[in-house]
Amino acid sequence: MSPSPSAATVEFDHVSKRYPGATEPAIRELTFEVPAGEVCILIGPSGCGKTTAMRLVNRMTDLTSGDVRVDGVSVMDRPPAELRRSMGYAIQQIGLFPHLTVADNIATVPKLLGWDAARIRSRTAELLELVGLEPSMGTRYPAQLSGGQRQRIGVARALAADPPLLLMDEPFGAIDPITRGRLQEEFRKLQQDLGKTVIFVTHDIDEALKLGDHIAVMKPGGVLAQYATPEELVRSPADEFVEEFVGVDRMVARLEWLLAVRRQGQEQDA
Ligand code: ADP
Repeated sequence: MSPSPSAATVEFDHVSKRYPGATEPAIRELTFEVPAGEVCILIGPSGCGKTTAMRLVNRMTDLTSGDVRVDGVSVMDRPPAELRRSMGYAIQQIGLFPHLTVADNIATVPKLLGWDAARIRSRTAELLELVGLEPSMGTRYPAQLSGGQRQRIGVARALAADPPLLLMDEPFGAIDPITRGRLQEEFRKLQQDLGKTVIFVTHDIDEALKLGDHIAVMKPGGVLAQYATPEELVRSPADEFVEEFVGVDRMVARLEWLLAVRRQGQEQDA
């Protein structure tokens, strides 16, 4: 994947986070670097600190010690609002505004940035096409869309202001495995064209192996178990935890996929 000139480098440098009142840190001494233009997947069991790690980057949560740098500048030296406008953010719950049309949802950040109406209109049309939706979708409301369509709008909105960095928290979660597979495939193609830096949280190892340039496997306690390419992870897992996580989870994901295919077959037969 060729790094786009508008991609950012992200460094986690011995970063720890302890929530107020918690006895244990949610993340401990996390250190790894995401090169510009790469997709970095954060994966691990529930509660191991994936979402926390991602939210430190746009300061939805503030770190306790260590540092996170974007293009060499500490996030702590940038005002949170400005930082958030400079990054795309797509989350599982999608967070579309129900009372706004699809077009207005996509235009959220461009409006905050003060783009003029004509530029916003043409960018919205371009993004609908980019994520594979009809231009007529722009006038609909989120409730009138399918789950898969809403996910696409979430991705379009995250891309709206052409940010160098995208944060995606289970963006394809909560949709059926077949639509999910299609969205993953489209995301891969889109990323090949756009070459953004992406930090992507998932708990699905198949998704991680399919989409990641590097994968950060986290274990309970917010500790980094391994940071490696998909191939390295499968060939040389750092320890038993990674070995088991990569193996067992792959089987579960396969099984879910197979069951979904069978269900769909039964529906078609009925
Ligand atoms: P994951 O995304 O891997 O499921 P999280 O980052 O959501 O993990 O959570 C990591 C740990 O931090 C968990 O123990 C969770 O209970 C705790 N945690 C997450 N958010 C908060 C919060 N806002 N306040 C206190 N504890 C939190």
